[in-house]
Amino acid sequence: MAQSAPAAERSPTAAPRYVYAFGAGHAEGDATMRDLLGGKGAGLAEMTNAGLPVPPGFTITTQACVDYFASGERLPDGLWPTVLDALAAVEAETGKRLGDPINPLLVSVRSGAKFSMPGMMDTVLNLGLNEQTLDGLVRLTGNERFGWDAYRRFIQMFGRIVLGVDGTLFEHALEAAKERRGAATDTDLSAADLRGLAAEFAAIVLRETGRPFPVDPHEQLELAIRAVFASWFGRRARDYRAYNKIPDDLGTAVNVVTMVFGNMGDDSGTGVAFTRDPNTGEKLLYGEFLTNAQGEDVVAGIRTPRKISELADAMPEVYREFEQIAARLERHYRDMQDLEFTIERGRLYMLQTRSGKRTAAAAVKIAVDMVGEGILAPREAVGRIEPAHVEQLLRDQFDPAALRATKPLARGLNASPGAAVGRAVFDADRAAERAGTGEPVILVRTETSPDDFHGMAASRGVLTARGGATSHAAVVARQIGKPCVAGVGELHIDYRERTAEVDGQAFAEGDWISLDGSTGEVYLGRIPTIQVRFEDQGGLQTILGWADGIRRLQIWTNADKPEEAALARSYGAQGIGLCRTEHMFREGERLEIVRDAILVAATATRAKDKAGAGGQLSDDEQATIARFDAAVARLEQLQQGDFEGILRAMDGLPVIIRLIDPPLHEFLPNHEDLLRSIVVFETSGTPESDPEYARALLLYRAAEALREQNPMLGLRGIRLGLMIPDFVKMQTRAILNAAIAVKRAGGDPHPEIMIPLVGHVNELRRAREILDREAHSVIERAGTSVDFKFGTMIEIPRACWVADEIARYAEFFSFGTNDLTQMTYGYSRDDAEGGFLLRYVEDRILPANPFQTLDTVGVGGQMRMAVEKGRAARPDLSVGICGEHGGDPASIAFCESIGLDYVSCSPFRVPVARLAAAQAVLAGPERDR
Ligand code: PEP
Ligand code: MG
Repeated sequence: MAQSAPAAERSPTAAPRYVYAFGAGHAEGDATMRDLLGGKGAGLAEMTNAGLPVPPGFTITTQACVDYFASGERLPDGLWPTVLDALAAVEAETGKRLGDPINPLLVSVRSGAKFSMPGMMDTVLNLGLNEQTLDGLVRLTGNERFGWDAYRRFIQMFGRIVLGVDGTLFEHALEAAKERRGAATDTDLSAADLRGLAAEFAAIVLRETGRPFPVDPHEQLELAIRAVFASWFGRRARDYRAYNKIPDDLGTAVNVVTMVFGNMGDDSGTGVAFTRDPNTGEKLLYGEFLTNAQGEDVVAGIRTPRKISELADAMPEVYREFEQIAARLERHYRDMQDLEFTIERGRLYMLQTRSGKRTAAAAVKIAVDMVGEGILAPREAVGRIEPAHVEQLLRDQFDPAALRATKPLARGLNASPGAAVGRAVFDADRAAERAGTGEPVILVRTETSPDDFHGMAASRGVLTARGGATSHAAVVARQIGKPCVAGVGELHIDYRERTAEVDGQAFAEGDWISLDGSTGEVYLGRIPTIQVRFEDQGGLQTILGWADGIRRLQIWTNADKPEEAALARSYGAQGIGLCRTEHMFREGERLEIVRDAILVAATATRAKDKAGAGGQLSDDEQATIARFDAAVARLEQLQQGDFEGILRAMDGLPVIIRLIDPPLHEFLPNHEDLLRSIVVFETSGTPESDPEYARALLLYRAAEALREQNPMLGLRGIRLGLMIPDFVKMQTRAILNAAIAVKRAGGDPHPEIMIPLVGHVNELRRAREILDREAHSVIERAGTSVDFKFGTMIEIPRACWVADEIARYAEFFSFGTNDLTQMTYGYSRDDAEGGFLLRYVEDRILPANPFQTLDTVGVGGQMRMAVEKGRAARPDLSVGICGEHGGDPASIAFCESIGLDYVSCSPFRVPVARLAAAQAVLAGPERDR
């Protein structure tokens, strides 16, 4: 084919090359150029080079889009002449010309970014049509109806996408035309009807924009290219990128491709298909097609498409060719492909190939199967699973007993698996709003469009009345891991009244509904859910087994109870990185004992200090000490029991137990509530001798004494431990006595004692003096030795700066990145996440919520420094992380890069962390698909 000239010939100033052509069995780009050509452009180039039937065209690079925005939305210098060159090449190959009334070339103009963003950006089809070229088209095809249908579609699409006309105006006009004709579907409209409709559409454009519809095809092309660029920053695309953490500065490519028509009669058609079932992963062609239709009809879910297997009967030869191409593409890309094709008068054209989006179950099955088929190596299979997939596989399901007892309201297509329970909401904005207040919602729509994305993302599940397995709702829900039931035909929604009805049964906004995306069933009310059993997930276990062979980081867990420890262990946890002992203080009778101790803690400690300095104690002081010691002794007994349970559950593995961390007022009733109750006692004339009043007064005085302006920066952590040492001494005794008991019973306990919130080395030095003494006296008394370690959390910025000093007194570090983030940013984590932080992320002031995804620059920079300083002072220092970030895949990748020994996360995230840690090791994990 005649190709567009190389960049050097086009521009003596060596401007970047903006256009890559493909056609006649040769493409200038290839599959490796996704950054520049986008996924679609790279796929078209690769398919062309492979000799597959691809209509000729060219791709305008993502760089052109980036430069377009950089220069204030001006087409970059040199772009337009290059587009014209490339267009000339397409014209030469097809023998058609853009704007030629005799033999017109029509093109599609499609977006296509590096990362697939299905339906999030814009596409214009049939570009090049005006009344003259339409004549030519009608003469060439001998099909007047087809010509007018193409033209009205073009005005509609171009008007909406490029000229910004409200799309419902065209839809209403179309509906009205159908009504006038008594036509059930679009295809029932005649050529004359469509001609009238085209005129109506043009009038809508004139009225709405104040300008006639642009009839010059070159002007159309330029406007369409600009519109596709602009759609990169459209709301849907921005929302989608924010959700999927895709950077904003990549830009989209624009693909200009010769139109082929699936709506030229019954020997034409169009469809989409996956090379394997994207729900289950089963190895079969899965998809849909429509005869006599254009691509948008299939995806929009307006006409109900036929199963791809039926193409075998409808057009056997085409089906066979398609099957072969599908198999070839899958082998070529070594991954399940999502294909778009059009059949024009019996001839098959491939319009797109890309790695197909899939459910978690399918991802795992496909990856494991492809290793079995010799297509992938296990390392590659591990790279193919997204961390979110693992989480989805462990998601809840409905309790089968409850399901048997409940009759479904309706049944639709099982479009994306999982059980979802929430309140019905019929509008994406309201769904996002209600979900923002913590309410579980289910988005219920007749059909979804890309504008609904934010509502889908905020919902527990999605329910639609129309659309098939490849409808927008289905594709997007699968991808973001939301359960979805699509195409419930009997569902009728009254958006104005905010109600819906299925066969006479109504529900309104706010009513509970439950849906099962695995079976397609929908229920009124709330069906109880149950957890999926990890043991039953054979495929996932295989993948994680491979991941374990790859990762360097150990995966530990944050667990406070034996049951949690056992669960985490069954998920593959290799130790406990954080046991928050204070959680044990809050349960049942314990809280009262803790309160008893707190009420007298300060006076008892003072009295003990006095006695220690040789002072004489009064009877009162002695009684206070006795009361305090009794409460502490009771707590010690209870904590020892807790620790024994945990050490047994983690037999043979390290267990880090953190000494008490929160400020004491957290164990007392709320200060204002206490005040209110005292006022009530007072005003009702209750005497202070009343035991309830007396207790309230005591608690109130204690709360008053413990009150601080900034408790998170106040008396907590090691500071509390040093001010009231009896609490931490007691915990140290309980830990070691528990270990001794477990060891005597034949166990293999490995306790590690962790001191929180150290900022100055002297804090740790002093604490160790006290606690080492305590520990050794326990061991001496018992006559049984146990191995244990002392270490510290690193969660105050200063601790990072003096990590070398601190390491002299710590055998291990554990990064408490919750506090470290809070204190590095100066954000109160209790307030920021519910407040301004959301806006900060939305407005892109911050790239992500730093409490979820580690800020690798600021917080991470300090961690890196602390690791280096700490290991310089103590080479065998063990270092891990136990903040929330320990279960976040991106943060895990960072932990790998700075050489931590382990990450510790909640039990449910252990499997995800196993995968993420392996992916962090794999060079260039295939997550950019
Ligand atoms: C941390 O600060 O990261 C941490 C694990 O401790 P907590 O969240 O209990 O303050
Ligand atoms: Mg902390």
